[in-house]
Amino acid sequence: ELKTPLTSIMMFAEMLKEGRLRSSEKVREYSRIIAAESQRLFRMITNVLDFARMEEGRKEFMKQRIDMRDVVNRSLAALSYHISSSGFRVETKMPDSPAHVLADPDAMEQVTVNLISNAIKYSDKEKWVGVRLEKRDSFVILEVEDRGIGIPEGEKERILERFYRTGISRASKRPGTGIGLNLVKTIVEAHEGRIEVESRLGAGSVFRVILPAMEEKGDGADSDSGCLLYT
Ligand code: ADP
Repeated sequence: ELKTPLTSIMMFAEMLKEGRLRSSEKVREYSRIIAAESQRLFRMITNVLDFARMEEGRKEFMKQRIDMRDVVNRSLAALSYHISSSGFRVETKMPDSPAHVLADPDAMEQVTVNLISNAIKYSDKEKWVGVRLEKRDSFVILEVEDRGIGIPEGEKERILERFYRTGISRASKRPGTGIGLNLVKTIVEAHEGRIEVESRLGAGSVFRVILPAMEEKGDGADSDSGCLLYT
C-alpha cells in the first residue's frame, strides 16, 4: 500500500524533471499531486510506526489542553487536496466556544484524519462527509459520518480489531491494511475516551469519538498555561 503514493510521486516527479510540460498550469497541478501524495505517504508511515509503538507499549502521548475545533480544522486542511480532488463535499458543524480536552494534539489529528479518510475511501456515489463536534454534559463528541458502503451488522465490533477488514471492503478492492481503526481505538482509550460505530449496509456509517471534556476556566479548573503531561 505504501508503494501506491510513492509510485505517483516518482512518476510525476519524473515528468517534471524532463521539463517537457507545456503549460505552467500542468506544472502546478503535478507539483500539487506530489505534495499531496507525499503527505499521504507520510500519514501512512506515521500510522505504521505508531501502530508498532503502541504494540510494544512505547508510544508516548504529550497531553495538553487543546481545543478540538483546532484539531478538526487542521485535519481538514491536511486533507483538503484529497477531499477536493476526489470530489467530496465536507459539511462541518462545530460549537461557537472552545471544546477543550486533555490530549495529545498530533494523536487527535491522527484520529480525525483516519476517520475522515475512511469516510472518503468507503463511499461510493454519495460523495459527502459530515464532521460534527459537540459538547454534551462533561464530554466532547466528535462524529464523522458518511453515506458510503456501510458495515455489515456482524462486523461492526470487529472492525476495531487490528488487521480486520470487512468482506465487502475487501471485495471492492479498496486498498487497506486494517490498522487505522485499531490505532484510533488505542489512542482514544489512552485518553479515557471511547469509540462508537453506527452503520447501515449500503446507507453509510457514523463513527463517534467520546472524550472527557476539560472543564473551562472559572469552573475551578486548570489554567491555560499548558499543563504538559507525559503518559
Ligand atoms: P483500512 O481502511 O486500511 O482497511 P481501517 O483500520 O481504517 O483499515 O478500517 C478497518 C476496516 O473497517 C476497513 O477495512 C473497512 O472494512 C471498515 N471501515 C472503516 N471505515 C469504514 C467506513 N467509513 N465505512 C465502511 N467501512 C469502514
